[in-house]
Amino acid sequence: IRCCTAAGCLSSNSQAVKDNLDKAVKAAGLEDKVQVSGVGCMRLCCQGPLVQVDNQVQPEGTKLYEQVTPEEVPQIIAAVRGEPTNLREYDLNHPFFTYQKPIVLENSGKVDPERIQSYIAADGYQGLYQVLREMKPSQVIEAITKSGLRGRGGAGYPTGLKWATVAKSAGEKKFVICNADEGDPGAFMDRSVLESDPHRVLEGMAIAAYAIGATQGYIYVRAEYPIAIKRLQTAIQQAQRLGLLGSQVFESPFDFKVEIRIGAGAYVCGEETALMASIEGKRGVPHPRPPYPAESGLWGYPTLINNVETFANIAPIIRNGADWFASIGTEKSKGTKVFALAGKILNTGLIEVPMGTTLQQIVEEMGGGVPDGGIAKAIQTGGPSGGCIPASAFDTPVDYESLTALGSMMGSGGMIVMDESTNMVDVARFFMEFCMDESCGKCIPCRVGTVQLHQLLTKIREGKASMTDLQLLEELCDMVKNTSLCGLGQSAPNPVFSTLRYFREEYLALIR
Ligand code: SF4
Repeated sequence: IRCCTAAGCLSSNSQAVKDNLDKAVKAAGLEDKVQVSGVGCMRLCCQGPLVQVDNQVQPEGTKLYEQVTPEEVPQIIAAVRGEPTNLREYDLNHPFFTYQKPIVLENSGKVDPERIQSYIAADGYQGLYQVLREMKPSQVIEAITKSGLRGRGGAGYPTGLKWATVAKSAGEKKFVICNADEGDPGAFMDRSVLESDPHRVLEGMAIAAYAIGATQGYIYVRAEYPIAIKRLQTAIQQAQRLGLLGSQVFESPFDFKVEIRIGAGAYVCGEETALMASIEGKRGVPHPRPPYPAESGLWGYPTLINNVETFANIAPIIRNGADWFASIGTEKSKGTKVFALAGKILNTGLIEVPMGTTLQQIVEEMGGGVPDGGIAKAIQTGGPSGGCIPASAFDTPVDYESLTALGSMMGSGGMIVMDESTNMVDVARFFMEFCMDESCGKCIPCRVGTVQLHQLLTKIREGKASMTDLQLLEELCDMVKNTSLCGLGQSAPNPVFSTLRYFREEYLALIR
């Protein structure tokens, strides 16, 4: 019996369900036949607490139960015995599950994130073993390059190329950083991966460290993710105690140490240079590039920074081969992408789909469309740096290039669905307010420009603006985009650009 103990289900009391399951199995004398496991995210977050009863004799007898209460636990025991129940069963053959291709999430909802044995039993640390025993660092970089993996943090930079640049950079020491400072509104992919499969991220970081010649790693994770932090701490202790991140087990001279750094909640610390400043104990503000982190990063040493999902892809690429990974997805966007599906949609939760899956499949088939027969109007991807894609473009395949061509971006993977009741000027204003609040204030175009843009959007929303204000809005967007120092300011106008591109009539309807 698997019971979800990731943040979503815990917030709807899944710990009490798990505790009752432990007691009930014992009371029923089923301990030798039934194992109860607390597992990570089972993906259908809107229907938690989720409990799955696996039937290992007849796999078709496996059942997923939704919204299970602690009082319904005796019925779960009845289900184990094959007796009829009143539990709410979710169809495991629904497109929400069948369209998914779990690579990053392959262990999510299956392994116990707090037990290293559970990860090892699911081929955990096999990739690291293979790398240390059979491959030179250059061969590892070759494999990652050949796989076509691109950074999952937003920009989609080729991962192998980044690794090769850090490997080539001269430095007495080198660092690996995992960026887990996920801050986009509506995004919870990295949190779920860390809560569900923390060893997977550690293994990816260790492989990267071996490939580039680093011995020290940092995971920069936001303070708002206490469960992820706790599970990461447990995972690091377990892996280090067993000597899995270095020489003891694998008889290799390679040694790797990992520490956690907890962010204090500034969105801008997701930007690489600000993140490194924060790790160094300085105020987390961006710095101009060059120098790039690959040449001069943490304390001036060459530093590799990838995000959680990127590292989570590494071990399966090593285990299954670069060709296997490259065979999934589209020509330029290989593999899968994890998305946090949220907003006005029936099935909110976590999905992992092959690159090239259309927005239509995601919204209408996997997500089940808008509740109560509503009509989807747009989808926002890429967080505050992204844009709104109208329903008329939902036949677009999801990949880096296609989303950028539509004026949005892949971003880290937040997807917020909007219905006909949403006013798109409100959407643009919401994201501008977010950027205004999160601007670090270092450069004037962003610090002052986002405030001015927010005021103009408020004026438009209140019906007090003229056409001159609309023209000013567009000019100011261009200025902020072209003159801000870092990605936050440069991309802050994107939601305005995309809503003006596709929903201009909503702006015009509000102009005096
Ligand atoms: Fe700070 Fe904004 Fe300038 Fe970035 S663009 S450095 S967040 S003020």
